[in-house]
Amino acid sequence: MLSRAAAIEAIAGQRFEVLVIGGGITGAGVALDAASRGYSVALLERGDYAEGTSSRSSKMVHGGLRYLQNLDLGLVREALLERQLMVQLAPHLVYPTPFLVPSFPEERRQRGLGIGLNMYDVMATTRVGRGRREMRSSKQEDEDFYWSPDRHRTIDRDEVLELVPALASRDPKDAYLFYDCQTDDVRLTFTVLGEAERFGAVMLNGAEVVEVLERGGKAAGVAFVEAGSGERIEVEADNVINATGVFADRIRPEETIEEEDVPRISPSRGTHVLIDRADLSTGDAACIVPAGEGRAIFALPWYGRTLVGTTDNDFEGDIDHPRPGEEDVAYLLDAVNDFFDVSLSERDLVGAYAGVRPLIATGDPKKSVDISRKAELYETSSGMLTITGGKLTTWRRMAKQTVDRLVEREGREAPCHTAEIPLGMEARPEDLEAPAGVGEEATGQLAFRYGHAARKVLALAREDAKLAEPIVPGRPDLLAEAVIAVRSEQARSVADVLLRRTRLGLLAAPQLRSVDSVRSVAAAMGGELGWSRREIKQAAEAWPAAAAEAGADPAAAAGRAG
Ligand SMILES: Cc1cc2nc3c(=O)[nH]c(=O)nc-3n(C[C@H](O)[C@H](O)[C@H](O)COP(=O)(O)OP(=O)(O)OC[C@H]3O[C@@H](n4cnc5c(N)ncnc54)[C@H](O)[C@@H]3O)c2cc1C
Repeated sequence: MLSRAAAIEAIAGQRFEVLVIGGGITGAGVALDAASRGYSVALLERGDYAEGTSSRSSKMVHGGLRYLQNLDLGLVREALLERQLMVQLAPHLVYPTPFLVPSFPEERRQRGLGIGLNMYDVMATTRVGRGRREMRSSKQEDEDFYWSPDRHRTIDRDEVLELVPALASRDPKDAYLFYDCQTDDVRLTFTVLGEAERFGAVMLNGAEVVEVLERGGKAAGVAFVEAGSGERIEVEADNVINATGVFADRIRPEETIEEEDVPRISPSRGTHVLIDRADLSTGDAACIVPAGEGRAIFALPWYGRTLVGTTDNDFEGDIDHPRPGEEDVAYLLDAVNDFFDVSLSERDLVGAYAGVRPLIATGDPKKSVDISRKAELYETSSGMLTITGGKLTTWRRMAKQTVDRLVEREGREAPCHTAEIPLGMEARPEDLEAPAGVGEEATGQLAFRYGHAARKVLALAREDAKLAEPIVPGRPDLLAEAVIAVRSEQARSVADVLLRRTRLGLLAAPQLRSVDSVRSVAAAMGGELGWSRREIKQAAEAWPAAAAEAGADPAAAAGRAG
């Protein structure tokens, strides 16, 4: 990625064919799709890339088994096909995980679930609806070329316990086993942004769009405020795309449409907590955990921790800074305590986060639609396109839908290529040359997170032994990543590094409570950004407030309360 200074220069006062507002997965996808079809593209992100919902998801690339219950078959099928494509396009970053739905001797077998899983299997196949000739002529004939999940099956007690030893005290009878995929949502966003840049897109964070400029009633660009200087900068654009997710209804040109036509978003909050695997481990598998009243949550392995989520409640708080709700945390803990027969409290948590889903109100209170899983594309009279809703999994389809609309209205011949564009470049951990002190856990994590670009991180660690040290003792994230975050990913604050470049703020919150614990990150960033000693000190001192704002450390809050 260009440095921020270079990006400002490349964007300010220029004209682009496509201007994307929002640097979450949807905006990143639109930038990649448009740039790869030959458009000149600029993308502006108000805060940090993926700072909104795209860093706060459950990190699953999945069809969404539970949407089958609502008979959202089209949505599930679409997401399952994207899941398969993502494993193929980003094999280092999107990986299959076995999911278990255990049952216990006192319970009756959930027949409905077996039927649902059969449908899930069938819908995941790329063969559905394709003629034999089409199959023969496509690469999909080559089974080895595409990852394709095994069909679901029932596993017996012994296999359940082999996969998830933590269930031993519950004495499970058997379990359904099926597959879905996991990722790091922020890394996926950065990887898509990186590809967009390869096709010529320019992107800038710390760039809040404050006005959509109009010419003759048509959206003709935007004005944004650059965070570093506070300067208002204008950019001209033939097409403006609003990809601001749950904030989509805040971007509105002075359009001549009825107020009822403007989508109004009322959000719902989803909370997640992270647990040390010494306290609760699901091994390499994920578990679906009943959470009362027919609801289910899950416990997943993620970056060496157990990730538990999620809730789904109307949220009237500050959507700019959603924090995990206390009752939501208690609800998640009650469910895992019951299910795994453990007694965990807030004090045992190593991290937490919350995200918000958009629910669109149409103006008529009886006609609210939950578009959080369905993507919605709006075109208003200024010509601005708003794309919101959908899923992390379906970003590519949402981007295609948006850019198809542009192409159609301009009468261009420009087909979408994103199904064939690899996302980053895979690297095998064993091929990465690590300096002394950097172990296999670190190289494995670097290969997952950066793919081939892991070599850049390791080169820095080789040049300077200090950068080969872990940011948090005992965790595999290297100080060199703080340098790369600034040099190649426009990181501006310690929070950018700890919450979104690495995910340490969520995975090791108790070890990051003191200003001292983050001084090395601030110093590494300062070296790149030319900060004075005072600025380095200020950057480190800003971290505790940022962590508190995100609600990343519920154990600290519980400690203070009790
Ligand atoms: C709790 C929860 C769990 C989820 N789990 C999953 C899952 O496991 N799998 C899955 O597939 N999907 C999941 N989703 C859905 C998925 O996370 C979202 O669909 C996706 O992240 C939305 O991305 P987005 O880019 O549209 O929005 P966002 O990521 O919110 O991006 C919008 C961006 O616009 C920026 N912005 C806002 N205003 C301005 C402005 N004026 N100027 C410039 N920039 C601006 C914001 O800062 C933000 O970065 C989950 C969602 C939630 C809430």
